[in-house]
Amino acid sequence: MISIQPEQLRTLVRTAAEKVIASTPELTALDQAIGDGDHGTNMKRGFEAVLGKLDLIGSQRPGEALKTIGKTLVMTVGGASGPLYGSFFLAAGDALLQSRELPDDLAEVFACGVGAVRARGRSEPGEKTMLDVLMPVLDTLTSEKGKPDLLRRVRSTASEAAARTAPMQATKGRASFIGARSVGHVDPGARSSCILLLAVCDALEARQ
Ligand code: ADP
Ligand code: MG
Repeated sequence: MISIQPEQLRTLVRTAAEKVIASTPELTALDQAIGDGDHGTNMKRGFEAVLGKLDLIGSQRPGEALKTIGKTLVMTVGGASGPLYGSFFLAAGDALLQSRELPDDLAEVFACGVGAVRARGRSEPGEKTMLDVLMPVLDTLTSEKGKPDLLRRVRSTASEAAARTAPMQATKGRASFIGARSVGHVDPGARSSCILLLAVCDALEARQ
Protein backbone atom coordinates (compact mmCIF):
# COMPACT_ATOMS: atom_id res chain seq x y z
CA MET A 1 0.00 0.00 0.00
CA ILE A 2 1.22 3.48 -0.79
CA SER A 3 0.18 6.15 1.64
CA ILE A 4 1.38 9.72 1.90
CA GLN A 5 1.59 11.42 5.24
CA PRO A 6 0.73 15.13 5.14
CA GLU A 7 4.23 16.19 6.23
CA GLN A 8 5.72 14.17 3.37
CA LEU A 9 3.53 15.83 0.80
CA ARG A 10 5.56 19.04 0.80
CA THR A 11 8.78 17.16 0.00
CA LEU A 12 7.03 15.12 -2.65
CA VAL A 13 5.57 18.18 -4.38
CA ARG A 14 8.91 20.02 -4.22
CA THR A 15 10.80 17.04 -5.68
CA ALA A 16 8.31 16.65 -8.53
CA ALA A 17 8.20 20.38 -9.33
CA GLU A 18 12.00 20.69 -9.34
CA LYS A 19 12.30 17.67 -11.61
CA VAL A 20 9.82 19.11 -14.15
CA ILE A 21 11.59 22.48 -14.08
CA ALA A 22 14.96 20.77 -14.65
CA SER A 23 13.45 18.97 -17.65
CA THR A 24 12.47 22.21 -19.43
CA PRO A 25 15.06 21.84 -22.26
CA GLU A 26 14.06 18.22 -22.96
CA LEU A 27 10.33 19.07 -23.05
CA THR A 28 11.02 22.10 -25.23
CA ALA A 29 12.94 19.97 -27.73
CA LEU A 30 10.17 17.37 -27.88
CA ASP A 31 7.50 20.02 -28.46
CA GLN A 32 9.68 21.74 -31.09
CA ALA A 33 9.66 18.48 -33.06
CA ILE A 34 5.88 17.96 -33.22
CA GLY A 35 4.27 21.06 -31.72
CA ASP A 36 5.03 24.72 -31.10
CA GLY A 37 7.93 24.31 -28.68
CA ASP A 38 6.26 25.78 -25.60
CA HIS A 39 5.61 22.68 -23.48
CA GLY A 40 8.87 23.05 -21.52
CA THR A 41 8.30 26.70 -20.64
CA ASN A 42 4.59 26.11 -20.00
CA MET A 43 5.38 23.40 -17.46
CA LYS A 44 8.27 25.40 -15.96
CA ARG A 45 5.99 28.41 -15.40
CA GLY A 46 3.33 26.21 -13.81
CA PHE A 47 5.60 24.31 -11.49
CA GLU A 48 7.49 27.45 -10.45
CA ALA A 49 4.09 28.80 -9.40
CA VAL A 50 3.47 25.54 -7.49
CA LEU A 51 6.84 25.97 -5.72
CA GLY A 52 5.74 29.50 -4.79
CA LYS A 53 2.73 27.99 -3.02
CA LEU A 54 4.68 25.29 -1.19
CA ASP A 55 3.98 26.74 2.26
CA LEU A 56 0.24 26.77 1.59
CA ILE A 57 0.34 23.31 0.01
CA GLY A 58 2.36 21.95 2.96
CA SER A 59 -0.22 23.29 5.41
CA GLN A 60 -3.19 21.71 3.65
CA ARG A 61 -4.72 18.27 3.86
CA PRO A 62 -3.66 16.20 0.83
CA GLY A 63 -7.00 16.57 -0.98
CA GLU A 64 -6.92 20.37 -0.61
CA ALA A 65 -3.25 20.42 -1.55
CA LEU A 66 -3.96 18.58 -4.81
CA LYS A 67 -6.70 21.09 -5.58
CA THR A 68 -4.34 24.00 -4.91
CA ILE A 69 -1.87 22.44 -7.35
CA GLY A 70 -4.64 21.94 -9.92
CA LYS A 71 -5.88 25.54 -9.65
CA THR A 72 -2.32 26.85 -9.87
CA LEU A 73 -1.58 24.80 -13.00
CA VAL A 74 -4.85 25.86 -14.67
CA MET A 75 -3.94 29.51 -14.05
CA THR A 76 -0.29 29.39 -15.08
CA VAL A 77 0.63 26.57 -17.50
CA GLY A 78 -1.50 27.61 -20.47
CA GLY A 79 -1.60 25.71 -23.76
CA ALA A 80 -3.54 22.48 -24.05
CA SER A 81 -1.63 20.86 -21.21
CA GLY A 82 -2.52 23.45 -18.52
CA PRO A 83 -6.26 22.72 -18.35
CA LEU A 84 -5.53 18.99 -18.71
CA TYR A 85 -3.00 18.74 -15.88
CA GLY A 86 -5.16 21.15 -13.88
CA SER A 87 -8.19 18.89 -14.34
CA PHE A 88 -6.15 15.88 -13.27
CA PHE A 89 -5.13 17.42 -9.94
CA LEU A 90 -8.52 19.05 -9.27
CA ALA A 91 -10.36 15.76 -9.84
CA ALA A 92 -7.82 13.73 -7.85
CA GLY A 93 -8.11 16.27 -5.01
CA ASP A 94 -11.91 16.03 -5.07
CA ALA A 95 -11.67 12.24 -4.96
CA LEU A 96 -9.40 12.41 -1.92
CA LEU A 97 -11.66 14.89 -0.13
CA GLN A 98 -14.73 12.76 -0.77
CA SER A 99 -13.10 9.65 0.60
CA ARG A 100 -11.65 9.59 4.07
CA GLU A 101 -8.17 11.06 3.91
CA LEU A 102 -5.98 9.07 2.97
CA PRO A 103 -7.77 6.26 1.20
CA ASP A 104 -6.13 2.86 0.94
CA ASP A 105 -6.79 2.92 -2.71
CA LEU A 106 -4.48 5.32 -4.48
CA ALA A 107 -5.54 3.78 -7.79
CA GLU A 108 -9.06 5.13 -7.33
CA VAL A 109 -7.80 8.66 -6.75
CA PHE A 110 -5.51 8.40 -9.77
CA ALA A 111 -8.41 7.01 -11.82
CA CYS A 112 -10.48 10.13 -11.10
CA GLY A 113 -7.61 12.31 -12.32
CA VAL A 114 -7.22 10.28 -15.51
CA GLY A 115 -10.98 10.34 -16.09
CA ALA A 116 -10.93 14.14 -15.89
CA VAL A 117 -8.13 14.34 -18.48
CA ARG A 118 -10.08 12.07 -20.84
CA ALA A 119 -13.23 14.13 -20.43
CA ARG A 120 -11.49 17.48 -20.77
CA GLY A 121 -9.32 16.40 -23.72
CA ARG A 122 -12.06 14.31 -25.36
CA SER A 123 -9.25 11.88 -25.94
CA GLU A 124 -8.52 8.20 -25.69
CA PRO A 125 -5.32 6.20 -25.36
CA GLY A 126 -3.54 5.65 -28.68
CA GLU A 127 -3.81 9.29 -29.79
CA LYS A 128 -0.23 10.16 -28.78
CA THR A 129 -0.92 12.27 -25.71
CA MET A 130 -0.25 12.28 -21.98
CA LEU A 131 -3.07 9.72 -21.70
CA ASP A 132 -0.76 7.15 -23.28
CA VAL A 133 1.29 7.31 -20.08
CA LEU A 134 -1.50 8.00 -17.57
CA MET A 135 -3.70 5.06 -18.66
CA PRO A 136 -1.03 2.33 -18.54
CA VAL A 137 0.12 3.65 -15.15
CA LEU A 138 -3.47 3.48 -13.91
CA ASP A 139 -3.62 -0.13 -15.13
CA THR A 140 -0.42 -0.93 -13.22
CA LEU A 141 -1.65 0.81 -10.06
CA THR A 142 -4.81 -1.29 -10.24
CA SER A 143 -3.33 -4.64 -11.19
CA GLU A 144 -0.25 -4.43 -8.95
CA LYS A 145 -2.09 -2.95 -5.96
CA GLY A 146 -0.55 -4.02 -2.67
CA LYS A 147 2.46 -5.70 -4.25
CA PRO A 148 5.86 -4.83 -2.78
CA ASP A 149 7.41 -3.75 -6.06
CA LEU A 150 4.53 -1.47 -7.07
CA LEU A 151 6.71 1.65 -7.33
CA ARG A 152 9.24 -0.16 -9.51
CA ARG A 153 6.42 -1.33 -11.78
CA VAL A 154 4.97 2.20 -12.00
CA ARG A 155 8.40 3.48 -12.96
CA SER A 156 8.95 0.97 -15.75
CA THR A 157 5.36 1.32 -17.00
CA ALA A 158 5.68 5.11 -17.22
CA SER A 159 9.05 5.03 -19.00
CA GLU A 160 8.03 2.33 -21.46
CA ALA A 161 4.66 3.97 -22.13
CA ALA A 162 6.27 7.36 -22.89
CA ALA A 163 8.70 5.68 -25.31
CA ARG A 164 5.82 3.86 -27.00
CA THR A 165 4.30 7.19 -28.07
CA ALA A 166 7.16 7.65 -30.58
CA PRO A 167 5.76 5.35 -33.32
CA MET A 168 2.20 6.69 -32.83
CA GLN A 169 0.60 9.23 -35.14
CA ALA A 170 -1.02 12.07 -33.20
CA THR A 171 -4.76 12.47 -33.64
CA LYS A 172 -5.32 14.98 -30.80
CA GLY A 173 -3.71 18.28 -29.95
CA ARG A 174 -1.34 20.40 -31.97
CA ALA A 175 0.80 17.42 -33.07
CA SER A 176 -2.20 16.10 -35.03
CA PHE A 177 -1.84 19.10 -37.39
CA ILE A 178 1.34 17.60 -38.87
CA GLY A 179 -0.24 14.18 -39.47
CA ALA A 180 2.20 11.41 -40.33
CA ARG A 181 5.18 13.68 -39.56
CA SER A 182 4.36 13.29 -35.86
CA VAL A 183 5.54 9.65 -36.12
CA GLY A 184 9.03 9.03 -34.75
CA HIS A 185 8.96 11.51 -31.87
CA VAL A 186 8.00 11.00 -28.23
CA ASP A 187 4.96 13.07 -27.26
CA PRO A 188 5.95 16.00 -25.00
CA GLY A 189 2.95 15.61 -22.67
CA ALA A 190 3.53 11.86 -22.37
CA ARG A 191 7.12 12.62 -21.42
CA SER A 192 6.18 15.29 -18.85
CA SER A 193 3.67 12.87 -17.28
CA CYS A 194 6.42 10.26 -17.12
CA ILE A 195 8.84 12.75 -15.52
CA LEU A 196 6.25 13.70 -12.90
CA LEU A 197 5.47 10.06 -12.10
CA LEU A 198 9.15 9.10 -11.81
CA ALA A 199 9.73 12.05 -9.46
CA VAL A 200 6.79 10.97 -7.29
CA CYS A 201 8.20 7.43 -7.17
CA ASP A 202 11.63 8.86 -6.20
CA ALA A 203 10.09 10.87 -3.37
CA LEU A 204 8.03 7.92 -2.12
CA GLU A 205 11.05 5.61 -2.21
CA ALA A 206 13.29 8.11 -0.42
CA ARG A 207 10.75 8.20 2.40
CA GLN A 208 10.75 4.43 2.94
P1 ADP B 1 -0.07 23.23 -26.79
O1 ADP B 1 -0.25 21.96 -27.55
O2 ADP B 1 -1.33 24.05 -26.71
O3 ADP B 1 1.13 24.02 -27.26
P2 ADP B 1 1.51 22.12 -24.65
O4 ADP B 1 2.63 22.14 -25.62
O5 ADP B 1 1.79 22.69 -23.30
O6 ADP B 1 0.21 22.81 -25.26
O7 ADP B 1 1.06 20.61 -24.40
C1 ADP B 1 1.04 19.66 -25.44
C2 ADP B 1 0.70 18.30 -24.87
O8 ADP B 1 -0.67 18.28 -24.38
C3 ADP B 1 0.73 17.19 -25.90
O9 ADP B 1 2.04 16.69 -26.04
C4 ADP B 1 -0.26 16.16 -25.37
O10 ADP B 1 0.37 15.21 -24.53
C5 ADP B 1 -1.20 16.99 -24.55
N1 ADP B 1 -2.52 17.12 -25.21
C6 ADP B 1 -2.86 17.99 -26.17
N2 ADP B 1 -4.17 17.81 -26.51
C7 ADP B 1 -4.64 16.79 -25.75
C8 ADP B 1 -5.90 16.13 -25.61
N3 ADP B 1 -6.95 16.48 -26.33
N4 ADP B 1 -5.98 15.11 -24.71
C9 ADP B 1 -4.93 14.75 -23.95
N5 ADP B 1 -3.73 15.35 -24.02
C10 ADP B 1 -3.57 16.34 -24.92
MG1 MG C 1 3.05 23.26 -27.27
